[in-house]
Amino acid sequence: MANNKQRRCSFCGRSEKEVKVLLSGIDGYICDECAERANEILRQHGTGVAARSKTTFSADDLRTLPKPQDIKEYLDQYVIGQDAAKRYLAVSVYNHYKRLAQRSDDDVEIEKSNIIMVGSTGTGKTLLARTIARLLKVPFTIVDATVFTEAGYVGEDVESILSRLLQVADYDVAAAQRGIVFIDEIDKIARKADNPSITRDVSGEGVQQGLLKLLEGSIVNVPPKGGRKHPDQDYIHVDTHNILFICGGAFDGIEKKIAQRLNTHVVGYNSVQHIQKIDTKDLMKYILPQDLKSFGLIPEIIGRLPVLTYLNPLDRAALRRILTEPKNSIVKQQVKLFRMDGIDLTFADDALDYIVEKAVEYKLGARGLRSIMEAIMIDAQFEAPSTSATSLEITKDYAEKQLEKSQKLAV
Ligand code: ADP
Repeated sequence: MANNKQRRCSFCGRSEKEVKVLLSGIDGYICDECAERANEILRQHGTGVAARSKTTFSADDLRTLPKPQDIKEYLDQYVIGQDAAKRYLAVSVYNHYKRLAQRSDDDVEIEKSNIIMVGSTGTGKTLLARTIARLLKVPFTIVDATVFTEAGYVGEDVESILSRLLQVADYDVAAAQRGIVFIDEIDKIARKADNPSITRDVSGEGVQQGLLKLLEGSIVNVPPKGGRKHPDQDYIHVDTHNILFICGGAFDGIEKKIAQRLNTHVVGYNSVQHIQKIDTKDLMKYILPQDLKSFGLIPEIIGRLPVLTYLNPLDRAALRRILTEPKNSIVKQQVKLFRMDGIDLTFADDALDYIVEKAVEYKLGARGLRSIMEAIMIDAQFEAPSTSATSLEITKDYAEKQLEKSQKLAV
C-alpha cells in the first residue's frame, strides 16, 4: 500500500507530511523535532550544538564563524552609517573568537581587547550592541552603568553584571566566562571633578575601581541569583579573563576637552596648517584616550579599554535613511502593522522629510524619529482597523496636522 511506503520518523513515528523536516539515515529517519530534542538531551550532558558553540571554539569552528566583513555586512542591514565603529566591533568580536580558539602550546597569548564606543545619545551604540548580539554564538548581556554603586552602598554592586551574564548562559559558568558584556552609559561613572573629598564618590570612582577588577580579568565571587551579597550565601566563582567588555557612553561635553587638547597642541610648530585641517564641527573624531581621562575615567580603566572608537552624530541624510532603510525600519514596521489589517500604507516623500526636520529640531537624534512617527500615526492606528479602507497615504499635511495636534494635547 502507498501509505506503508510513506517515510516516517523512526523515533516518533510521524510521517513526512506531519513534520517540517525529515532527515534520512542509512536505515531510518529522524524529524526536526526529535533531532531538536536529542540535541537538548546532549546539551544537558554538556555536549550538543548549543553547549559546544557557547563554551569552546576550535580552529575549525573559527572557519565557519562570520568573518569581520560578514559581521559588518550584517550590521549594515540594521544600522545606518557608523562605519568606523562597525569595523572596530567586527574585528574585536572576531578576535574574541580567536582568543577562545587559541591553543596554549606556544608562548604567544592573544590578549583581550575590550572596546569603548563614544557617541552622543541616539546615534546607535546600543543598537550596534543589540544587533551584534543576535549574531553571536556566546552569551551576551547589556547592563547600564548608572545603576551601580560602590560595594556596600544602596544600588547594585558591579558583580551583578556577572549575575546577568550567568542568567543568559543558563548558569553554565564555562559559557558565561566566554561571554560578551555591553556596559552602557559608562560616562555616568566618571569621577566628578568638583566632588569634595569629604563626601565619597560612591557612584563614580568607587564604581570604576570595582569595574576595573572585572575588566582586568580576575576570579569574582558572584551571588547566585543576583541578589545582594550575604555572608552565608554560596558564591559562584566566575573568571572574567575571557569575557569581552564593550562599553558605550555619550560623554556629553567631551568635545570641549578635545578642543582644549587640540588647541594646546596646535600652538607653535606647524600650527597654522594644523588649525585648517581640524573639522571643528565634528571634534569627536579626534578623540584620544587622554580625553577620556580629562572627562573623569581613571587611567587604569582606560588602559583596560584599548580599542577606542566613536560614532558620528546623525545628520539629516542619515536620519532620512534610518526611517526607511534598516531591515526593521520604523516605516517598515508601520507598513507591517497596517498590512495586518489589510491596509496598504504609504508615506509621501515630503512627509518623511518633515519627520526628519522635526527630529533635528528636537535634537533627539534617531530616538526622536520613533516618537514623532507614533504621534503622527496614533489616530490612523486607532481608526483604520474599523474602516473598510484598503489603502492609506500619509501626506506631509496630514503629518503636520497630527503632530501639532499631539503637541497641543501634551501642553
Ligand atoms: P544610543 O547611542 O544612545 O545607545 P540607540 O542605539 O539606543 O542610541 O538608538 C536609539 C534608536 O535610534 C535605536 O533603537 C534605533 O531605532 C535608532 N538609531 C540610532 N542610531 C541608528 C543608526 N545609526 N541606524 C539605524 N537606527 C538608528
